[in-house]
Amino acid sequence: MEKNDDRLHHLWRPYTQMQTEAPPLKAVRTEGAEIFLDDGRRLIDGIASWWTACHGYNHGHITNAIKLQLEKMPHVMFGGLTHEPALDLGQRLANLLPGVGTDSALKHVFFSDSGSVAVEIALKMAAQYWRNNGQPERIKFVCFRHAYHGDTMGAMSVCDPEEGMHSHFTGFFPEQILTGLPRTQDEINNFSKFLQRERRSVAAVILEPLVQAAGGMKFHEPGVLRSIKAACKANDVLFIADEIATGFGRTGTMFACEQAEIAPDIICLGKAMTGGSISMAATAANDQIWQAFQSNHISDAFMHGPTYMANPLGCAAANASLDLFRTGDWRSQTRKIEDHFRQSLAVCKSLPGVVDVRSKGAIGVVEVSDGSRLSELKKYFVSEGVWVRPFGDIIYLMPPFILTNRQLSYLTDTVSKITRFWSKL
Ligand SMILES: *Cc1c(COP(=O)(O)O)cnc(C)c1O
Repeated sequence: MEKNDDRLHHLWRPYTQMQTEAPPLKAVRTEGAEIFLDDGRRLIDGIASWWTACHGYNHGHITNAIKLQLEKMPHVMFGGLTHEPALDLGQRLANLLPGVGTDSALKHVFFSDSGSVAVEIALKMAAQYWRNNGQPERIKFVCFRHAYHGDTMGAMSVCDPEEGMHSHFTGFFPEQILTGLPRTQDEINNFSKFLQRERRSVAAVILEPLVQAAGGMKFHEPGVLRSIKAACKANDVLFIADEIATGFGRTGTMFACEQAEIAPDIICLGKAMTGGSISMAATAANDQIWQAFQSNHISDAFMHGPTYMANPLGCAAANASLDLFRTGDWRSQTRKIEDHFRQSLAVCKSLPGVVDVRSKGAIGVVEVSDGSRLSELKKYFVSEGVWVRPFGDIIYLMPPFILTNRQLSYLTDTVSKITRFWSKL
């Protein structure tokens, strides 16, 4: 990017102090695991464009599916109309989501265009479920410290206000019930008692299963997830799993909920759903939820409908991505990445200032005690030819699954090299 390109000041940038932060780099092309810049440099992408490009960039199978759909029908409204790509995708997700084949199957899919909106839809669906069931006062949500569920109003309300980056807006959105993630048996028991006490006002509990991602890449064991789901069931509170970051293979299984052998009542999907090609998201619900919206009254209908709902290009891209999951090698790729992270990031553990090193599936994390100077490291990663963006108190990797062994080693070598450099600063 030329420093004096004065068109830049027309553009807002995300979570960026535009006056002081370095200007953005200008990307001109992507391919495989790489981003090509206008000055000829190429970067290995260690974070898959905000965790979306799971099969690598420009995968021919996905781009072809989009091209074919583009010539037929790039978009048509979803009110009163439907189309093959949506019918196909809805059925395929229903046959893939946690709980398939049981009464808890998530068979009913609402398509939208971004993760935050998928979360808004889940919250509205849960609240209206209780309204339709004659309990309209159940409109509160229970959420957890380190949660991140998106940037829109309802989604912000269920984020950790500090870690979720929304502390400026306290008071602007409804206040929810924020609590620590219950991990020990005692904490689980207390959590269950708390749900029992509050159940008359609570619509649902919302959690990112196994990995709380943007709120600090915090992991929890499948047993914790299972206990939280059990506490919800025991107290007749709905459970929403936000798998926008964890879904589509990232934790080593198709969905993180599978590792706890649970099915939520409502699931949110986004990010890697189209393999990093087009914005597309979904919220799926089980039969119990769906049935509460079936009646002779329009007032029981679910009150939501984005303009670009079920965009055919997005559905075609998501279907093509699912083809790749069906035929591809993602299980062994994510296992290989997990093993590699575990072995090669371990060297960071003993460095001064590093408090934890952890990995799960294709996620590798180095956590430090004081993150105040971490974001300064971005430029060093770029000068090493790597696209990695530390935030908060972590340096993390969430690469495309298709990395070559050389690219994978280069990424982790660079993370250890720069962490070592940082620890001497
Ligand atoms: C990214 C993310 C969202 C928000 O998705 P957008 O597409 O950015 O709106 C919500 N929940 C989780 C867990 C996420 O990681």
